[in-house]
Formats: sequence, C-alpha cells, structure tokens
Amino acid sequence: EHKQPLLEVRDLAVAYGKVEALQGANLTLREGELVTVIGPNGAGKTTLLSALMGLLPARGEVLLDGQPLNADVDVEARVGRGMILVPEKRELFAEMSVEDNLRLGAFSRRGEGAAAREATMADVYDLFPRLKERRGQEAGTLSGGERQMLAMGRALMAKPRVLMLDEPSLGLAPLIIREIFRIVSELKKTGVSILLVEQNARAALKVADYGYVLETGHVALEGPSADLAADERVAATYLGGK
Ligand code: ATP
Repeated sequence: EHKQPLLEVRDLAVAYGKVEALQGANLTLREGELVTVIGPNGAGKTTLLSALMGLLPARGEVLLDGQPLNADVDVEARVGRGMILVPEKRELFAEMSVEDNLRLGAFSRRGEGAAAREATMADVYDLFPRLKERRGQEAGTLSGGERQMLAMGRALMAKPRVLMLDEPSLGLAPLIIREIFRIVSELKKTGVSILLVEQNARAALKVADYGYVLETGHVALEGPSADLAADERVAATYLGGK
C-alpha cells in the first residue's frame, strides 16, 4: 500500500494521577483505511481515542496530515480539521428528534450553505434508512441499535476524514451487531478513514485492514487483520480459541 499516513500517533502516553492508562502507544491510520484497536477491558482503548480527540491531556505526538496536533489544538479545532469521535456512551440529545440530533452534528459546518448540510443528511438517511423512518422521533426513545446508528450518523454530518468509533457494538444484540459492522464496512467504501476500537475482536478483524492489540496501555501486537486473526496468541486470548 502506498497511501499517505493521515493520522500518526507516536509514543502517546496518558496518566490519570498515578494510573498510566496509556504508556507510549504508536499507531498509523492511512487515507481510506479501516484500522481497529482491540484489547481487553481497561487496556486503554477509550483513553487512546479521548486523547486523540483532545479531550484528555497526553504526552507524545499526534500528527494529522503530517501536522502536529499540539495541546493547544482543542476538540473543536480537531473537529474543524476533520476528526470526529463517536463515544461509547453515544451522548445523544435524548429529548430532541433524530433529525435535530443529526443537524447538530453539522455544527462545525455552519459556515457552509444549508444545501450542503441537507445533502449530507440525505446521504446519512441512505446509509441508515431506519433513521429516516424515525426522523421525528425523540432520540431517547430509540432502541440501542438505533441510538448507535444515530450517533454514527451524527458524526458523519460533520463530513469527517477520520472517524473514530468507540465500541459501536457494545451492549447490542448479535443481529444488530452484524448490522452495525455491515454499516462500518459501507462507511469505508465512502472513503472516510476509520479508527475502530472494539472488544468484539472477531468482528472487528473481519472488517478492518489492519489491527493493533492494546494490552495494559501498550501495543502488544499489530499487523494486517487477517494475520492477527490467524495469530495463535490473538485467537487464544481474544477469539475464544480456534
Ligand atoms: P473498556 O473496554 O473497559 O472501556 P478501555 O480499554 O477503553 O476499557 P480505558 O477506559 O481507556 O480502557 O481505561 C484504561 C485504564 O485507565 C483503566 O485502568 C481505567 O480504570 C483507567 N481510567 C480510565 N478513566 C479513568 C479516570 N477518569 N480516572 C482514573 N482512571 C481511569
């Protein structure tokens, strides 16, 4: 592959007081790639995404298009540069409609004409017909799967270049999980680069190009997804044996 690195993470470290949640993580996301970070509870996956988004102070280097994102580049500025995070808790506005939640996702594009935002909304509805059917429904009354779809749709309204997904399958039923991973694959085809954090290693490695195994704050293993899925250590620890 000769694609440009879009996001480069070098020696990223985060501590919560004395707890070193991330101890020098290295990772590369190339243009148009789907990269997954798998690992057990507490490995530091959420911490990694929060630090990349600028929600937590971190040591080390994060480069977007080769440009360093220093501590003074805050969350809003990172969104403006094309990064977006769909947090594990989804964080929707429960009392607002599906469509109003989507509209808020385009906040960073308020300088653009309304027509451009409406066009993105149409794309999001094509990807998630379920959201279109429920456009007037209060977000708080959606099912778990629909809420995850709305969180993803809202992120897409920002027209991100780097889409970071924190455990999109968490707490969902198996059939819905399949649907969510199918959508993640569809998203990849739109050209957006995706960083997918998952505990569901089997499903994540199936859709990803490349994977990292995060264990207690450091990258224990990395490689093309197919290689990782075939790796005995990965199979034994994360795929429930083979
Ligand atoms: P999970 O899959 O369970 O969400 P994770 O891989 O996302 O796990 P993190 O949530 O990043 O892991 O947590 C990494 C470590 O940092 C854990 O030991 C956790 O207890 C600790 N930690 C996370 N957030 C805080 C915090 N706000 N204050 C103190 N320690 C924290």
